[in-house]
Amino acid sequence: MARRSVKRLADTFLQVSIGQILDVIRASGSGIVPIGTAVDEARLAAWVEHDENHILFEMAVGWGNVEQRIELSETPCHFGGKRNWFLCPCCERRCGVLYIGKHVACRICHDLMYECQFEAPRDRTLRRLKKIRRLIGAGMELGGPLNPPPKGMSLRRWRALIEDYNRLREAYYIESRFPRKWKNDAPRGRR
Ligand SMILES: [Zn+2]
Repeated sequence: MARRSVKRLADTFLQVSIGQILDVIRASGSGIVPIGTAVDEARLAAWVEHDENHILFEMAVGWGNVEQRIELSETPCHFGGKRNWFLCPCCERRCGVLYIGKHVACRICHDLMYECQFEAPRDRTLRRLKKIRRLIGAGMELGGPLNPPPKGMSLRRWRALIEDYNRLREAYYIESRFPRKWKNDAPRGRR
């Protein structure tokens, strides 16, 4: 049941932000970028070469050499100017931070999670809803039927879970209707 209990936290993963890359591109086009995690100072370094709308990213890490071509993209800003992004080499999603494992990829592709207080409220609610469905042995579809108490679960606990579920589901729909802006994937260090 605890399939996901060892979810890795994004903050403890080696990472590079689009701001760091832009600094190098603007300074010289290619160069060294210090690499660390969000909670640890940078102890490693990557070599970055800029070429038109992509970079080549090279880095020696404990598990071997990482070499990756990463496409860059930009979107216009509300008040003029533009915002720069990476395109995740794995899913092509626009993102401001990429994580470095065996490959360089976005948070979703690496299956990384933010610490709870940093998780978008809607994502957190969804995760809790799915957890309850898993506990009572129901299918993962939110609108799907809920089970009677599974073997070994008291009726009281089951009722409490169903009550939680209904409350969270209500909250989830409200969050979905009025999604809040969430800034964690926004580029850091942009000027
Ligand atoms: Zn991705």
